[in-house]
Amino acid sequence: MNPLTPLLQNNSLAIVDGALATELERRGCDLNDALWSAKVLMEQPELIRQVHLDYFNAGADIAITASYQATVEGFAKRGLNREQALDLMKKSVQIAQSARDEFWSNEANRVNRTRPLVAGSVGPYGAFLADGSEYRGDYKLTEQELINFHRPRVEALIASGADLLACETIPCLIEAQALVKLLGEFPNASAWFTFSAKDDEHICNGEKIADCAAYLNQFEQVAAIGINCTSPLYIPSLIREIKKNSDKPIIVYPNSGEVYDPVTNTWHGETSCDAFGHQSKTWFENGASLIGGCCRTTPDHIREVKNLTNA
Ligand SMILES: [Zn+2]
Repeated sequence: MNPLTPLLQNNSLAIVDGALATELERRGCDLNDALWSAKVLMEQPELIRQVHLDYFNAGADIAITASYQATVEGFAKRGLNREQALDLMKKSVQIAQSARDEFWSNEANRVNRTRPLVAGSVGPYGAFLADGSEYRGDYKLTEQELINFHRPRVEALIASGADLLACETIPCLIEAQALVKLLGEFPNASAWFTFSAKDDEHICNGEKIADCAAYLNQFEQVAAIGINCTSPLYIPSLIREIKKNSDKPIIVYPNSGEVYDPVTNTWHGETSCDAFGHQSKTWFENGASLIGGCCRTTPDHIREVKNLTNA
């Protein structure tokens, strides 16, 4: 069964959480480290738990775990052996589950809500390379090599009881193909697949989102198809392209609208939670049934999505 069904049965819209890094920085974490998630998972797990709680309180129905950059190869660079790396991935799920259980244990939080889910984040191969290919997808790897790269984390996240996987910020179709084949090795597991897009029709590596959606639509284990880590401007058209080619639930969690400058490592442009909330209404009207935020979004953005889509 699609693990998203209970959420979508009771509400026409389910809310996904927002950025983790932005909130951790606001709480004083120094994330200026290619493997910041490993650092925070090891040193300050309580802060991650608190951010998950804040998002549930803001209205999120789904928490995405802090495992986006977590890989055996990456954590080895910080001196962690395979077992320690896998333990940290499992820990990311346990932290989110603990926040969810605390939230849900309060009767007041259960009014008009469905029990929130924990989605285990599977970042793309490029997030491990940390060389920008995360948003280009110009990998020199075969599908089988990508499957082998992703297997340990996918296995660890499923073993730790994540309700589903969030295969996210996928820049190229071959990586989605590798991930969906890998998922076939775990027949009881489900995952959503979200791509990063470069315009209102194409994912970052240049394939049409329409083709990606049509491909993924054939697989039972695909719980939802959509877009994340992309400018809000492109979202309505991308949703319509997915909708024409798939009958899966559509999930979008774009960036705040600020633009990242990779030369100076800074973000530019005005953005308001209010504008994000208003845009989310358009995404809903175009056919998205799961909406949240990616880079630079905060609990306030998520609260606005919740308010505006409830209205
Ligand atoms: Zn992002």
